[in-house]
Amino acid sequence: MSLTLQEIQDFKGKYPKQIWSLFFSEMWERFCFYGMRGMLVFFMIHQLNFHEKEANLQYGATQAFVYAFTFIGGLFADKILGFRKSLFWGGLLMIVGSILLAVDPHVYFYFGLAFIIIGTGFFKPNISTMVGELYKEGDNRTDAGFSLFYAGINLGAFLGGYVCVAIGKGYMLSSVIDEAHRWNVAFGLAAVGMLVSLINFHFTKKKLGPIGLQPGHPDAIVKTKPLPKWAEYAVYVGTLLLIPLIQVMVSKTEYTDYFMYIIGPATLVYLFFEMSKVSAAERKKLVAALVFIIFSIIFWGIYEQSGGSLSIFAAKNLNDSLVGLTVDPNGVNNSGGAFFIILLAPLFGLLWIWLGKRKLEPNTIIKFGLGFIFLGLGYYVLFATRFFATDGVSSLDIFTTALLVITIGELCLSPIGLSIMTKLSPAKLQGIMMGMWFLASAYGQYVAGLIGANMAEARENAGKAEALLTYTDGYKQLGLYALIAGVVLILISPIVKKLMQEVR
Ligand code: GLN
Repeated sequence: MSLTLQEIQDFKGKYPKQIWSLFFSEMWERFCFYGMRGMLVFFMIHQLNFHEKEANLQYGATQAFVYAFTFIGGLFADKILGFRKSLFWGGLLMIVGSILLAVDPHVYFYFGLAFIIIGTGFFKPNISTMVGELYKEGDNRTDAGFSLFYAGINLGAFLGGYVCVAIGKGYMLSSVIDEAHRWNVAFGLAAVGMLVSLINFHFTKKKLGPIGLQPGHPDAIVKTKPLPKWAEYAVYVGTLLLIPLIQVMVSKTEYTDYFMYIIGPATLVYLFFEMSKVSAAERKKLVAALVFIIFSIIFWGIYEQSGGSLSIFAAKNLNDSLVGLTVDPNGVNNSGGAFFIILLAPLFGLLWIWLGKRKLEPNTIIKFGLGFIFLGLGYYVLFATRFFATDGVSSLDIFTTALLVITIGELCLSPIGLSIMTKLSPAKLQGIMMGMWFLASAYGQYVAGLIGANMAEARENAGKAEALLTYTDGYKQLGLYALIAGVVLILISPIVKKLMQEVR
């Protein structure tokens, strides 16, 4: 017997049990995604003979495209496929893309990436939306659920991000995999991760009751007329037809610029059209959601220095001693954040529940504001690395402290952002709004790349000591912007609160 929505949402305890199904599917999807992403820059430079700058631009373009397609994925989930089928379709595309890369990463590089880009678009936003549907409106355990889910995201990111590139470079399993096949195995492992994700989802989805069913299904949460079967097939065919186009766009980074100029305004226009069809109260909530989305662009623009300028900074300006152990500073930069999230996310979840019970839980705007303030403080700690340097080489311990502070900021904003999208969107626009949330990440990545490139340019050919000063100056600046954004958010909180009405 299938569960009803009410039975699911009336769960006892801290977390609904269905969250584990979504937790593991998302964990393995992120294993695949971060495994792939973690190999890109190195693979481009060492296997495809890209210059550093080219590789960085290419990497940025891939990231921007990945997150930009979440809007399309969310849109088609709402209108035609439903969340479950979208997730499945996206997962299949990601598997095909990873297999293409595994078969011959040199030949199928852009072709494989194109599959992964659009596949992620169908998968990523829709699984988060399903987490939101496990909760009744006003359930103050929602943010805790998203924090737990976020730990799953980062567990996958941490494992995939480490293992895949380590196999490719020959740091792991090199005695059993001959050198000529390391990259094939590494990309293949990403495909295996994605396969595990889909198998897990397939066998656990029946516990989701009506959540994620296709529009038009008699049990679907939003009641609509049944859809003709061809509409679904048209989405599948349309997706496949889009792949060669994405392949071309992602292979020439100047197209990314045009794409980014167009996609944001186009989605906004579409959203305004959808907003004209909802009630005034719903519209106000959507405006509040847009405020969060816009601020999140600033957040990710600063935060995402980690993939770009901070990795150059880690390589050139940090020593390799962490609490007395010798480690690779780039490894710390890549995985330190995920490590802290895995550790802290469940605790933050419990903290929100604990505060909630005592009526002390800060509302979403204040959490966002705190997110910016911690982000800003973290960047000030990065600035402070300059006071612990000899000959331009500074302390990895201080750097790691900065990562910890930044991570606290991330936990106040990123899972809470997912949660608030599901709370502020009417049922029939859930997918689109989650897509918008991730589209903001696409712009964040894009802006981060521009900021990073600027900083890199300023210190080109400089010695280590000079580079340290230039970079840390930049981080101080970014820290200040983050603090300002946090203060502005807290100042405008009464207005946003009004727009949010009963939603906290
Ligand atoms: N690290 C998180 C994830 O992979 C957040 C990504 C984002 O929104 N930029 O889901």
